[in-house]
Amino acid sequence: MMERKTNRAIKGSGSKSNQLFSKIPQVEKILRTRIIKNLLESQPKRLVLNAVRQVLEGIRRLPAGEMEKTAFAPDAVAQRVYDCVLEKAAPQLKPVINATGVILHTNLGRAFLSAGAEKALLSVSANYSNLEVDAATNKRSDRIDHLEPLLCLLINAPAATVVNNNAAAVFLALNTFAFRKEVIVSRGQLVEIGGAFRLPEIMKASGAKLVEVGTTNITYLSDYEKAITDKTAMLLHVHPSNFAITGFTQEVGLEQLVRLARSRGLLTMSDMGSGVLIDLKKYGFGDEPPVQAAIKSGADVVSFSGDKLLGGPQAGILAGGKACLERMKKNPLNRALRVDKLRIAALEATLKSYLDEQTAIRDIPVLEMLLRPLPQIAREAADLFEKLSGVVAGNGRIQIADGFSQLGGGALPAENIPTKVIRFLPARLSPDVFAARLRRNNPPVFTRIAQDELILDPRTLHPKEYKVIAEAFNTILKK
Ligand SMILES: *Cc1c(COP(=O)(O)O)cnc(C)c1O
Repeated sequence: MMERKTNRAIKGSGSKSNQLFSKIPQVEKILRTRIIKNLLESQPKRLVLNAVRQVLEGIRRLPAGEMEKTAFAPDAVAQRVYDCVLEKAAPQLKPVINATGVILHTNLGRAFLSAGAEKALLSVSANYSNLEVDAATNKRSDRIDHLEPLLCLLINAPAATVVNNNAAAVFLALNTFAFRKEVIVSRGQLVEIGGAFRLPEIMKASGAKLVEVGTTNITYLSDYEKAITDKTAMLLHVHPSNFAITGFTQEVGLEQLVRLARSRGLLTMSDMGSGVLIDLKKYGFGDEPPVQAAIKSGADVVSFSGDKLLGGPQAGILAGGKACLERMKKNPLNRALRVDKLRIAALEATLKSYLDEQTAIRDIPVLEMLLRPLPQIAREAADLFEKLSGVVAGNGRIQIADGFSQLGGGALPAENIPTKVIRFLPARLSPDVFAARLRRNNPPVFTRIAQDELILDPRTLHPKEYKVIAEAFNTILKK
């Protein structure tokens, strides 16, 4: 039916394209080629047919001028179908090499798991598990029981739970405590985190009414005080995540908010964004307050992500007072936002690493990359340089230079982390084109461009990836 319709539509157009269209081989003819017959031995027929139709459709849509140049022989079309099928048959979600130096790159999957977390995830992935049962008593249990005591111990909080991600955590808290009530937020904290997390929009969807106070750069305690009405349910403190306001600024600290909220019978929540369990100041990193500090300040509820600085799977962690956590767990939405067993396993293993800080720093990739000493990075840069410069030879200018890595993922936005990078200026291709070809490598290699040069940062690489990158360079330069 489809075929005939297309053909009829074409009758009306110019006779030249008519001639061209008649040269496009029919589906049956392509299926009879040797290439496709062989392909059908290893690939599902549905996938092959789908690819044939797609390739033919692509040819029909070509502008007349281009169509003339297209090879119409069944074997040539079959070859394109073959490539198309192999591409579709390969995993669509797959590992890539991150040479950008952005540790928590949301588009590249944010944190990747520690070996221990990976192992834990695999152990429950293709097996039954005690997800919601106590094996000793055969009594039904809560899936969060596997995590809550550990979270409470690490965060020093009376109670905790875990949901799908931090956006879900904020949503659940607002819906539980502030449905049809008012929540006061400083204008300096009304953040948008990439990928459509806009605080005002989440609040609206949760049923809470946002009351903005102060200005972008200055908010006083009195601004909150004046905004409190009998409809107010909560004062919300939000980590500004991916930006830093510098210069003439003032925000009200969490402790002061808690004091005000308590005196007026209100709740205080802190959306900590990244959320970190170790004191990064000790390691020379600015002002990222640990989650424990927010609990200590008396916040009723704190929330943070599992796959940002914590370095675990995607998750939203909520911690705070027992009564507050109980109310959130009883909210029917909690069921809609719950985490699956794979992530519970990965999160448990990640959290266990934090029982000993040195273990966490060694085993959790996000922390290891962030805290990797510069002399080590310099050695790695030299090693990568050696592998690449041999391949580049005269085909461009390559050098080691000082540079900066970024944490990304909405933490330490103002922090430039000194690193050593490889700078490469290809001789024949523009850096953009070279970067695009690296991304088309298998596995794809992601780099950064700065000052019109290609930048590769060993901080987010594993030395075993250097050889793959060198091979990708070689393939591109040889063409
Ligand atoms: C990242 C972030 C979120 C969203 O967290 P997800 O885990 O990505 O859902 C919410 N609030 C703040 C302040 C953040 O930085």
